[in-house]
Amino acid sequence: MTNSSMAALQEVQRLDHRIRELEAAFQSFEPRLAEAEAPALELESELGGVQQRLAQMQADLRRLERSGQEKDVRIQKLEERLTRVQNLREEAAVQTELSLIRRARGADDQESLQLMDQIQRAELVVEELERRSAEARAEVEPNQQAVLDERQGIEEELAELRARRDLALEGVGRVERRVYDSFHASGRPVVVARLMDDGACGHCYSMVPLQIQQEIRSGTSLIRCEACGVILSADLEVEEPHPVEPASVASADGEEDSGGATAT
Ligand SMILES: [Zn+2]
Repeated sequence: MTNSSMAALQEVQRLDHRIRELEAAFQSFEPRLAEAEAPALELESELGGVQQRLAQMQADLRRLERSGQEKDVRIQKLEERLTRVQNLREEAAVQTELSLIRRARGADDQESLQLMDQIQRAELVVEELERRSAEARAEVEPNQQAVLDERQGIEEELAELRARRDLALEGVGRVERRVYDSFHASGRPVVVARLMDDGACGHCYSMVPLQIQQEIRSGTSLIRCEACGVILSADLEVEEPHPVEPASVASADGEEDSGGATAT
């Protein structure tokens, strides 16, 4: 193993740190998009409900009209039959049937009138809700767009960081890479750390035995901290709290210096 391999590994670690941050930020966009859209969705869903009820009432009204027409035909036939009855008993029977159907016909009319009234009111509500949801839609649109733009910025930065990571990995030796990958996969944020000048592990600060310090300083084999397990190297840069330039997560002044954020 070489020192340049360790430096490359440190760069991968730095990039991974930033990639994880951005991936977490990316996850938060679905709820944020839903939230931005909520005012319009609420009105649209209310509108949908009223439209559905309106359609149902219109269908009911058409059904009533058809049934009224059928009753009219039946009434007409019975009235004709009334002119041809043979006796009183037959006449009484026809009259009874006629009055039943006329009464049912009247009830249909009554129901139709009520329905027409309800339909008229529902149409007014639909009109009002259509207007309000169009307004709400127009209002949420810029908010949504802002969130979408921000998400796209993160997507682009992630793509770039992943490309840089691939590049940095080319400089990492096979053994180091295997150790790094298994640590990284288990969610460990720090895999490689600097052996500090006083001989402490740069990650957990426990002292590394002298003989092992020498081996680390000679840089001939991959050595891990006995206390915390990170790979130790003597020739790494001191880690900053924010390893890679924190670019556009918080949006707004989104000038990203993604080129060579190797920090100071
Ligand atoms: Zn340690």
